[in-house]
Amino acid sequence: MDLSRIAALRATPVPPALHLIDGASCPASDGGTMTARSPIDGSALTTLARGTVADADAAVAAARRAFDDGRWSGLAPAERKRILLRWADLIEARALDLAVLGVRENGTEIAMALKAEPLSAAATIRYYAEALDKITGEIAATPPGTLGLVHREPAGVVAAIVPWNFPLMIGAWKLGPALAAGCSVVLKPAETAALTLLRIAELALEAGLPPGVLNVVTGEGPVVGAALAASMDVDVLVFTGSGATGRKLLEAAARSNLKRVYLELGGKSPNIVFADAPDLDEAAQVSAAGIFRNAGQVCIAGSRLLVERSVHDAFVEKLAAHAAALRVGDPLDPATGAGALNSEAQLARSLGFVDEARAQGRRIVTGGDRILAETGGYYMAPTVVADVRPDDRLAREEVFGPVLAVTPFDTEDEAIALANGTDYGLAAAVWTGNLGRAHRMVRRLRAGLVHVNTYGGSDLTVPLGGVKQSGNGHDKSLHAFDKYLDLKTAWIKL
Ligand code: ADP
Repeated sequence: MDLSRIAALRATPVPPALHLIDGASCPASDGGTMTARSPIDGSALTTLARGTVADADAAVAAARRAFDDGRWSGLAPAERKRILLRWADLIEARALDLAVLGVRENGTEIAMALKAEPLSAAATIRYYAEALDKITGEIAATPPGTLGLVHREPAGVVAAIVPWNFPLMIGAWKLGPALAAGCSVVLKPAETAALTLLRIAELALEAGLPPGVLNVVTGEGPVVGAALAASMDVDVLVFTGSGATGRKLLEAAARSNLKRVYLELGGKSPNIVFADAPDLDEAAQVSAAGIFRNAGQVCIAGSRLLVERSVHDAFVEKLAAHAAALRVGDPLDPATGAGALNSEAQLARSLGFVDEARAQGRRIVTGGDRILAETGGYYMAPTVVADVRPDDRLAREEVFGPVLAVTPFDTEDEAIALANGTDYGLAAAVWTGNLGRAHRMVRRLRAGLVHVNTYGGSDLTVPLGGVKQSGNGHDKSLHAFDKYLDLKTAWIKL
């Protein structure tokens, strides 16, 4: 990594950010702004437009016009592909600049941010660009004298509300297939991670995406996000974030135009280690990364560790050693293993869970405290809490911070009962050398993604989505197109 470039970029002032509506940058309709703070040291980074309901409505109107006049939805697929591929190239060419800007705003360690943010976004956009002209309709097996055609058409105006942990990666998981399908989009970034999404939306214009096809409105969720959810002119709403917000979005859809709502709502993912795991050292190391990368702010984080009792103590010790050895600090230092939490509120929330566990008499094996407070940044020591009981809040609720809850088990059935015993169903992992057990566990675990003898690291070719209260619908893979394409039947008498 180019250290002098990183140093230069981190010292560059960030100009005030505006919305991007109908191809033009514009302030909030009432001129309102909000401060973007850097979690690296708590300093003010720049201001964002504090969007209004009028701004959200203007963006939806622009997206609607762009969709209805066919400037994008009506282009030849090969032309859409050419523009999206050019967009991916522009993002990739500016990867380090984008990564540093993103890290200054959200605190993710740079080595991970570079890969997981701009480079992953470029790869995602390319994947869907390359796929878009391979989508075909169907001819149904209808009786003689009839012809049944099944068309797949772009669904219309998509509103995408995304979170702050991986804005470009998650943003591209929505934007890639939505735009490739021919939809127009209004994107609402999180309050604390908007700058890189605005930047790539500008690059989309440079790549030739017609104005109005991709609009970005910044501001507060309960104002801008809520206006998009209540809009009568949004056809599809896609969301990644908390369950509490997901419920509000469903309610708003029901009260407005019954828009389709797809939710990715996080998890409390069980990481299950059997004594017969092929390599317990590797399991400890990968499991530590599975919870502590990006300071635990990962939807699929393996935040519950279930360990077979016979290896429990030794395994927890190994894992805690990895946690304690993780270098936490300045996220723009490429040697950093875990950066800052995204906001002061997220730090307070994470510490609150640990305080509660401590008060309940649970064992803090390592970590548990804020660190590097003198920097003004939001850092927390990777934390392992043992003897966590299934009913503890720490075992049931998503922390979204560097806190691992550990519970022992004795049998496969008990592991399944513990693993499936929360409201969530996003990810899980099983570590075992027994092939039969591995497949049994994959079938019995109620989760959208089950890892075997690894954690994290899947790629774009496979879908990601939750069951139970982790949500519905899928990002990634060709299945993601299902959200953005409508089926239309033509029944023809011959
Ligand atoms: P997280 O815990 O990940 O911050 P949130 O659900 O609060 O989860 O935020 C995810 C996204 O949802 C952000 O872009 C945020 O602005 C937006 N959001 C928050 N509250 C609402 C709401 N009431 N209506 C619509 N969007 C919202």
